Amino acid sequence: TDPTGPTGAGHRPADLPERIQHYIDGELVDSLDGATFEVLDPVSNETYLHAAAGTQADVDRAVAAARRAFTEGPWPGMLPRERSRILHRVADIVESRDARLAELESFDSGLPITQALGQARRAAENFRFFADLVVAQADDTYKVPGRQVNYVNRKPIGVAGLITPWNTPFMLESWKLGPALATGNTVVLKPAEFTPLSASLWAGIFEEAGVPPGVFNLVNGLGEEAGDALVKHPDVPLISFTGESSTGQLIFANAAPHLKGLSMELGGKSPAVVFADADLDAAIDATIFGVFSLNGERCTAGSRILVQREVYDEFVERYAAQAQRVVVGHPHDERTEVGALVHPEHFDKVMGYIELGRSEGRLVAGGGRPEGFETGNFVAPTVFADVPRDARIFQEEIFGPVVAITPFDTEAEALELANGVRYGLAAYIWTNDLRRAHTFAQSVEAGMVWLNSNNVRDLRTPFGGVKASGLGHEGGYRSIDFYTDQQAVHITL
Ligand code: NAD
Repeated sequence: TDPTGPTGAGHRPADLPERIQHYIDGELVDSLDGATFEVLDPVSNETYLHAAAGTQADVDRAVAAARRAFTEGPWPGMLPRERSRILHRVADIVESRDARLAELESFDSGLPITQALGQARRAAENFRFFADLVVAQADDTYKVPGRQVNYVNRKPIGVAGLITPWNTPFMLESWKLGPALATGNTVVLKPAEFTPLSASLWAGIFEEAGVPPGVFNLVNGLGEEAGDALVKHPDVPLISFTGESSTGQLIFANAAPHLKGLSMELGGKSPAVVFADADLDAAIDATIFGVFSLNGERCTAGSRILVQREVYDEFVERYAAQAQRVVVGHPHDERTEVGALVHPEHFDKVMGYIELGRSEGRLVAGGGRPEGFETGNFVAPTVFADVPRDARIFQEEIFGPVVAITPFDTEAEALELANGVRYGLAAYIWTNDLRRAHTFAQSVEAGMVWLNSNNVRDLRTPFGGVKASGLGHEGGYRSIDFYTDQQAVHITL
């Protein structure tokens, strides 16, 4: 039972650690210089733990361990079936701990508890998926009968550096760890400094599943220090990064001298385009979910809604009313739909955009702290209508529960508005005209398009953005390709 009552206010998970260490070569260790950084919980904004702050020396140690495990250890040479068995055990352990994982993730990041639970299960599924994929992997062979045979020899690359953000951190880490390990690489993970708690569980999970020491290494720390050292390390040929576009640009430049393999999943400002012939009930439900689930802290958030003029007034009125009914609450409360934003710095950024929005658009719902939440990083679902295309709240990623609605008249105008930003991650199209749905999908500048749907995705499909939203794809065989070299072997008969 929760002594703090049904709202979950003041809830603290049992057995919270007070400090978090690195995990290098199968051992939990502090930073060599003993440095730590503070981690806050987003409801009280008080420091609840100290995490080891990695420096270049710690990264060097982790990379050396990963390199040894790659060159001397059994991992890269194991049969895919053997690695797959171990990774299925990882999935089973993650799934069996989903309640604990969700509780910690929700406490550390402010995600509503019910949504954190879904993310823990997705993490388990990511491991199962890649564990199966490497067993089913078939590579090409080309024959000129009687003359030659040519085949593709797929090989793990080495030490992969994985750098991840604070939104749904555990799940996003699994999305990189799964394919990197399944293909036989060894890894150094640098999780986001706002939310290191759930990542600290990986060490125990991998150990219990039988992953050999040195295959998985974790270095906590700040991006500019630990992350930077990983990016610049000469023995790390691959960097898989998820985070802001501006950080991605910096990493791109810093990795250039080593010509590293880069996978970049970056920011977004994705449009949801609602045509007058759409099923408005479904479009409203989906576009509410699309920007207010996960606290609006999701890369694929449909944070700009473009609505055809004929239904614009009705849409705005109904959308605003529904946004006001979204339940803001303590992350631990099962009724909560929008919890607390991750960190006071991020809260200030989102509140800054809300203030700006008052002069750039027409506020129709929310607009700041909800009533009854005087402290903590709580923001009411906020809706601005009549937002022009040159507004900053139309152009820039806010990464919170804030949405801009803009009217359009023609399909051509909708396309121009949809494409009129630097980002190109996702697009959502609502229309009952089949031809229009598919031609719009063809022309919209987005790595992923959802037609009359939301949030459904098969793990075999490519995941990634165009323009400032990223470089390369994750998902299915795209991830396998990123984490492997495909060597061509030619034989004359
Ligand atoms: P961020 O770029 O600030 O940080 C991401 C990670 O990079 C952190 O671990 C950070 O410590 C590290 N980092 C920071 N500076 C670094 C440097 N100079 N060198 C190496 N590492 C460095 O991003 P964030 O605020 O943690 O995450 C939110 C952002 O992530 C949003 O822009 C969001 O859209 C994006 N995101 C994209 C996807 C996607 O799949 N496209 C998914 C989730 C989040």
